[in-house]
Amino acid sequence: GLRLAKRLDEVGFSDIVQIRNKVLELRAAGETVHPFHGGEPFFETPETIKYAMMRALVENKTKYAASSGIAPLREALARKLTTRNGIDTTVDDVIVTAGGAHALYAAFQAILDAGDDVLLFSPYWTPIRDMITGAQARPLLVPTSSARRNGITRTLEQFSTPHTRAIYYNTPQNPSGTVFSRAEAEEVAAFAIKHKLIVIADEAYEDLVYEGDHFSIASLPGMAERTITTYTFSKSYGMTGWRLGYAVAQEPFMTGLRKLVLYSTNGVSTPIQWAGLEALATPHSVIARRREEYRERRDLLVTGLNALGLECEMPQGAFYAFPRVEKISKDSRKAAATLLEKAHVATIPGVVFGAQGESHVRFGYAVSMEAIESGLAALRRFLG
Ligand code: PLP
Repeated sequence: GLRLAKRLDEVGFSDIVQIRNKVLELRAAGETVHPFHGGEPFFETPETIKYAMMRALVENKTKYAASSGIAPLREALARKLTTRNGIDTTVDDVIVTAGGAHALYAAFQAILDAGDDVLLFSPYWTPIRDMITGAQARPLLVPTSSARRNGITRTLEQFSTPHTRAIYYNTPQNPSGTVFSRAEAEEVAAFAIKHKLIVIADEAYEDLVYEGDHFSIASLPGMAERTITTYTFSKSYGMTGWRLGYAVAQEPFMTGLRKLVLYSTNGVSTPIQWAGLEALATPHSVIARRREEYRERRDLLVTGLNALGLECEMPQGAFYAFPRVEKISKDSRKAAATLLEKAHVATIPGVVFGAQGESHVRFGYAVSMEAIESGLAALRRFLG
């Protein structure tokens, strides 16, 4: 009959969209809203990147290209992955995608069968759960806090089933700002190798680690062949709306990713890929400077939240803070609704990210310093 495919039954629509709509409504009514609900860099796409796209257009780089991506971009990505991430990569191991989201979608579709289970550290980036259920598999939530308290191996053993096929491993983590150490990556890797699991590594925030260095799990011995690592231009280069990302994987996974990209988008817009090539040439000093700007925002927000009694661990990466908001409500949805209605502070409730137990909300601090100051002032008025 006229019905939707059953595999979409368990797939939700992001609650984040509903919050964004509510914010738009308040703004349309002339209200000031303190916008901590988003996850977009505060800076605009650099001019050099915009001009690279314009140049590509003028030079008629507007025709079909290889669906896996233009060769110069894939070559540059292979070099970047080899030198910066320590993942020994050839051009054939790289595929260009429409953002990190598309790379992750293709990765789950490529490896999962109905009835498979996927270990998922929680809290997690909301769409991941829907991507897993959309592939007719089951997410197995592994609370990151228990893993840290009781040991990663023990916790993964505890939550794993005979149907476990993969682990989703995101560092730095959205929404908690957790950064997994090299030692933790080694434990996850040893577990994956022992149980013959695939790892989907999401490194969207690789350039936003505040202490020490980002570490790619696929760089460990025996891991490149069992890991699909996904990246995006969105966060590092202020390119959220461009929809440009990539994945690195070996066979048989790359063949799967190629098929999925071929039949979903037949490749990313050619001029956008030329702009991506320019983005990769961004000097490291520019990325380091932006990281310092994020660090200032993080310190201001987290210190402010703690001073108001909203207990918040110092996030080690990405641009989110995840304070406890029990004093507002033990139900994180209620807490976020109260903050929005009473203080006009827009956040995302922790349950949306699969956070269990204590009530948390996510603050995105990729906003201006002034926005953080005035948001904290609004919270002070509300709580005080
Ligand atoms: N992975 C994580 C953890 C994210 O937070 C995001 C964006 O918010 C993405 C992947 C994908 O970003 P995009 O689809 O813009 O590349």
